[in-house]
Amino acid sequence: MATKKRSSGKGEERGKVILTVALALVCVLASLLGIYLRGGNPFEEILSFFKDSPGILESGEYKEDCLSVFFLDVGQADSILLRSPEGKFMLIDAAKNDGAPALLRTLKEFGVKELEYLVLTHPHEDHIGGADAVLEQFAVKTVLSPDVGSTSKSWRDVLDAIEKEGCKDLIARPGDTYGFFEGCTFTVLGPYDTDEDLNNCSVVFRLDYGETSFLFTGDAEEREELSILENGGSSFLKADVLKVGHHGSSTSTCEEFLSAVSPRCAVISCGENNEYGHPHRSTLDALEDRGIEILRTDLSGTVMVQSDGKNLTVSKARSSDAAMSGASGAMKTSAAANRERLFQRIFLGSVGFRRKLLSETFLKGA
Ligand SMILES: [Zn+2]
Repeated sequence: MATKKRSSGKGEERGKVILTVALALVCVLASLLGIYLRGGNPFEEILSFFKDSPGILESGEYKEDCLSVFFLDVGQADSILLRSPEGKFMLIDAAKNDGAPALLRTLKEFGVKELEYLVLTHPHEDHIGGADAVLEQFAVKTVLSPDVGSTSKSWRDVLDAIEKEGCKDLIARPGDTYGFFEGCTFTVLGPYDTDEDLNNCSVVFRLDYGETSFLFTGDAEEREELSILENGGSSFLKADVLKVGHHGSSTSTCEEFLSAVSPRCAVISCGENNEYGHPHRSTLDALEDRGIEILRTDLSGTVMVQSDGKNLTVSKARSSDAAMSGASGAMKTSAAANRERLFQRIFLGSVGFRRKLLSETFLKGA
């Protein structure tokens, strides 16, 4: 069978490359001249351009050899998928009951067949609703959850599925450390007190990969945040990326906790126009006042953070004008906005996100 070949010759290709490089140079020189004529120092402006985000590059290029953390757009709920460079997976929470079909489709799209860990932060339906379906559909090696009881049907369904599938069922206890893949471990930091309301029984843990770290909090509120600090957790909380507790509610992310975590970037998982008004203004203010980059699944769809062990890159499944407001967004130059659009195109193309599926199906189900 004949295969089609491009007809252009080598000379023509080389001509195109030279023309592209020449055009790029003209553009760079023109913008430097523009800055110079406005009385600015071109190099200072370029440096400040990169300082817009606190050390995190907004890139869209999906790199397989990185740790990828996908904060899935599951409406007013939580579900976070982690992929190791070798293709091992871990899932933190599993959306709502009615979000299960879309979640299963998404996991299959990502190539998930087996989960090393399924962490169920606490037995509220917006975190464990789809967990029974996940357990039935994929081979789950270990389930990690807090030592709490709940009489809800959703939780009973999950416990039945764990028993039926025969996976390892572990209680998360502060201080316990688990290995995910080579060079990547995670340590449980809470809950200490499981007699509290379910939000404050959330499994809180820090995941470390090389020099980078992520803090996952479930729906932990101030009460649990303070109990972690009181139990000596302050020196373990520091992380680059914070999954903001309880969908950005004002009852979470207290000042002492935020100071201890001191993240560069904060991700809020919540549904568009949700009935709770999440994220609350006070939480956004606290993050913005510290210059922390805020990413929201209601505005940006699924958010991907990649780590090569040293650097983090952040990508969003969609842009929105609303995502550009806020303290960090307001600082963005039009060039940064253009760059973001370009990266989004690459991101959407390379990961093959079905934006329609992710945004419409999940938000409708929320
Ligand atoms: Zn929740």
